Amino acid sequence: MLDITPVPAFSDNYIWLIRDASGRKAAVVDPGDAQPVLQTLAESGLTLTTILVTHHHADHVGGVSGLIAAYPDAVVYGPAGERIRDLTFKLREGDRVALPEFDAEFRVLDVPGHTAGHIAYVGEGVLFCGDTLFAGGCGRLFEGTPQQMQASLSKLRQLPDDTLVYCAHEYTLANLGFAKWVEPDNEDLLAREEADMAQRERGRPTVPSTLGLEKLTNPFLRYDMPSVVSAAEQFSGQALTNPAEVFGAVRYWKDSAYD
Ligand code: ZN
Ligand code: FE
Repeated sequence: MLDITPVPAFSDNYIWLIRDASGRKAAVVDPGDAQPVLQTLAESGLTLTTILVTHHHADHVGGVSGLIAAYPDAVVYGPAGERIRDLTFKLREGDRVALPEFDAEFRVLDVPGHTAGHIAYVGEGVLFCGDTLFAGGCGRLFEGTPQQMQASLSKLRQLPDDTLVYCAHEYTLANLGFAKWVEPDNEDLLAREEADMAQRERGRPTVPSTLGLEKLTNPFLRYDMPSVVSAAEQFSGQALTNPAEVFGAVRYWKDSAYD
């Protein structure tokens, strides 16, 4: 079991920090800001050896140069399909990232949609999915089509139900608020919202969730459930004939609801 803790950054980002068993070495995922990571490393007596990034947005890579300035031996992994400075290894689907000091190995998945070259890391029962899949939601389509994003999410949906979903933002309550518009009668969703509200009231993260819970409650993974299909058809005023169309309608619905 990996030792993973959040380093909060900006208003709602989580930079995930992995510690090795000796408590001396650390890896981080999507360090948008160096300062809070440097502070945590110093307080915990950790040396940064590894940086994993999922996509090129500044709130995910903005801290990389500051971290390697402080830890010049740190190795940086990231997507082959995006322009990101300072990458040591450029990854695409099928690549493996072996991190023996953390007893971990991750597989790389291409998950385009939020950005064109977005990747995810899967292994050791965890998923680092950046801004592709969120707890209760999914990333906006900045550089991809609904078809691409739906295909990416269907790849993630095939992972085991007990996979821990480490996304990069605390957007959960807003996401679940929208999810209730799509599925007002989904009991699992209502129970989840109550539990996640209680977490936030105690100042705790709602992340990680599990993929099993996402499959029960996240409308963006439920593009083939009759309740979601009919809500999406009602929103868009036409018959929707495939999962990408249903996904696209729900994504468009959420975008228009909050703009
Ligand atoms: Zn992003
Ligand atoms: Fe982000």
